[in-house]
Amino acid sequence: MRIIETISEWEAIRKANFRSWGLIPTMGFLHDGHLSLIRRACSESEGAIVSIFINPTQFGKGEDFTQYPRAIDSDLEALQREGVDVVFVPSVEEMYPLGFDTLVVPGALSTCLEGKSRPNHLAGVATVVCKLFSIFRPDQAYFGQKDFQQYLVIDRLSRDLNLGVKVVLGETIRSSDGLALSSRNSYLSHSERHAATALYQALTKARNLYTNGITNCRDLKKAMMAIIDLEHLVALDYLSIGHPDSMIELEVIEAGAIISIAAWVGSTRLIDNIYLSE
Ligand code: AMP
Repeated sequence: MRIIETISEWEAIRKANFRSWGLIPTMGFLHDGHLSLIRRACSESEGAIVSIFINPTQFGKGEDFTQYPRAIDSDLEALQREGVDVVFVPSVEEMYPLGFDTLVVPGALSTCLEGKSRPNHLAGVATVVCKLFSIFRPDQAYFGQKDFQQYLVIDRLSRDLNLGVKVVLGETIRSSDGLALSSRNSYLSHSERHAATALYQALTKARNLYTNGITNCRDLKKAMMAIIDLEHLVALDYLSIGHPDSMIELEVIEAGAIISIAAWVGSTRLIDNIYLSE
């Protein structure tokens, strides 16, 4: 495994290896959700590149950029075990040198949900991913369903800007009680960790009702709210039942939907979603 810190080191590797590359962008503090994407990339590409970069441009003022958890040594050990070929660990200056003055701003897809609650977040993500795609020119790049809107934005970005990267969606990996794995789960206290399961419980409640024939989104949201309201440590940010291609809110589910939830559990903001097929 090669650990590189500069773009020029990558250029030398790329020139010496004519293979198909899979890229997995991460912010580190790796868990099984990241590792499932990495394993898939390793099996579907000849070379796997993992980037670990806590990207300042995707954090808003007052968000957790400085506190974001870090564990670079154990991350590198895990990546070595997985057989990853290249790990990119750039500094902020390497990615955003003095004078950097460009932002990639996604369109309509970024106006709702995360885009609304975290202004500039998706533009920050699109900017850094666009840079990673330009630097590595991977054949495939892997993103998790947990951040479904992010996946849609990046897929659109790759197509719209002709970046030629196939954007692959990996399933959400959960702990045994259903909570989606997230680096931010490490912020939760014992009681918050317990309360956080309400997010997945609300999502599965909606899925069960839908399976039993309830397609009216107001009724589904009401049933989800009833679960969230039971947990005094959980404060809802948004609930959405949207079209899986556009995230546009639905009144009635006719041909599948993505149900998304964002909530504060104490001072930690968590997101999750599930996909309902037709
Ligand atoms: P992050 O390090 O949080 O920026 O995440 C890096 C990638 O891992 C993103 O594509 C996420 O969607 C994905 N990811 C995060 N959590 C999970 C999870 N529980 N299951 C699957 N993928 C995940």
